[in-house]
Amino acid sequence: MRERDMIDHRRLGRELELFVSDPLAGAGLPIWLPAGAAARHAVEEYVRELERRAGYQHVYSPPLGKRELFELSGHLGYFADDMFPPMRLSADDEFVLRPALCPHHALVFGARGRSYRELPLRVAELGGMYRAERSGVLGGLSRVRAISLNDAHNFCALEQAGEEVAEILRLIREAHAALGVRPAGFRLSVRGPGQRYVGDDVQWARAEELLREALSGVDYEVAPGDAAFYGPKIDIQVVDGRGRESTLSTVQLDFDKPERFDLAYTDRDGARRRPVMVHRSLVGSMERLFAYLIEVHEGAFPAWYAPVQLVVLPVDADQAGVAADLARRAEAAGLRVEVDAAGSLGARIRDAARRRTPYAAVIGAREAAAGLVSLRLRDGRALDPLPVAAALGLVGDVVATRSAQLLPG
Ligand SMILES: [Zn+2]
Repeated sequence: MRERDMIDHRRLGRELELFVSDPLAGAGLPIWLPAGAAARHAVEEYVRELERRAGYQHVYSPPLGKRELFELSGHLGYFADDMFPPMRLSADDEFVLRPALCPHHALVFGARGRSYRELPLRVAELGGMYRAERSGVLGGLSRVRAISLNDAHNFCALEQAGEEVAEILRLIREAHAALGVRPAGFRLSVRGPGQRYVGDDVQWARAEELLREALSGVDYEVAPGDAAFYGPKIDIQVVDGRGRESTLSTVQLDFDKPERFDLAYTDRDGARRRPVMVHRSLVGSMERLFAYLIEVHEGAFPAWYAPVQLVVLPVDADQAGVAADLARRAEAAGLRVEVDAAGSLGARIRDAARRRTPYAAVIGAREAAAGLVSLRLRDGRALDPLPVAAALGLVGDVVATRSAQLLPG
């Protein structure tokens, strides 16, 4: 237990300069520093590409909107306790920091007439949203007030919903494998006593049935009372360094918002029909995802999203030119690289390991003369000197395949 206590993303976040929380900026409003931003950027690019190949279309929408939008969506009626109070510009002009992206994405679907041929229509965005969390529960990246959510809303015909949910679960597994996420369990979150929900019992039963079918063959728990106010959901849980469970990925079925926003498509027979709205997040918010990834990897991210992938260490000043040249070539190959020339070689090697940099390229006089480089891995392994092109090829391979290992398989 003592050892697990030491793996705290807040401590590692500080030591590795990934993010900072400043009381002047406000509790629950962390600032991502360059190293954390570089890792997050790599993850965001990966997720966007994964979604693009799976038929998602990306949009941008603002993190705030008119009060009426969130009255229509039901958020002000059912979710107001978790929202920041509205901002009044004038007597009839009030704005709300959004608690979810769904209302804007409903407007994307409704922006023009839709045909059955366009379904499933998958609208994705990595977008900002806000939660008025009480200050006592805030900590590091795991509970924040400004959230960057990997979100999408898939509009489909009712008969497509089962297949759509199954496909989303497949994408979630793929993303987890690439990132090194180890889910602690699946949960079917359904209605429970003491909460308010929209929609009728027939819709709730149908939605639950579809989710149960998608989960066939998977071990899962049923969590009464944890459904969204508009529908049941599949939650994929992770456990943090202190043993606390939280939801990372989620898939939710919603019959209510298409009603509220009067969304429809023209079916094959010319009839006007309501789509089902599937809310889903493959990897959750960037904040909660990184709180988890920092702890599960103890700061040693897989090379493909390590803030710095390769640090070049010239043994002395005579190799400065060769080191700069290697860094330029690595950069041109798309790698995140730095040169560290200050201090003793031993101290620089230790510093690279402390920063969890996957690869250090040591260049001494002999290596420089022969066009070679000695790669040291962050786990302490040292490779025999390699030609520069081979060393860059090795690192490039590991990064391109998003391998969790530091040497190609
Ligand atoms: Zn949503």
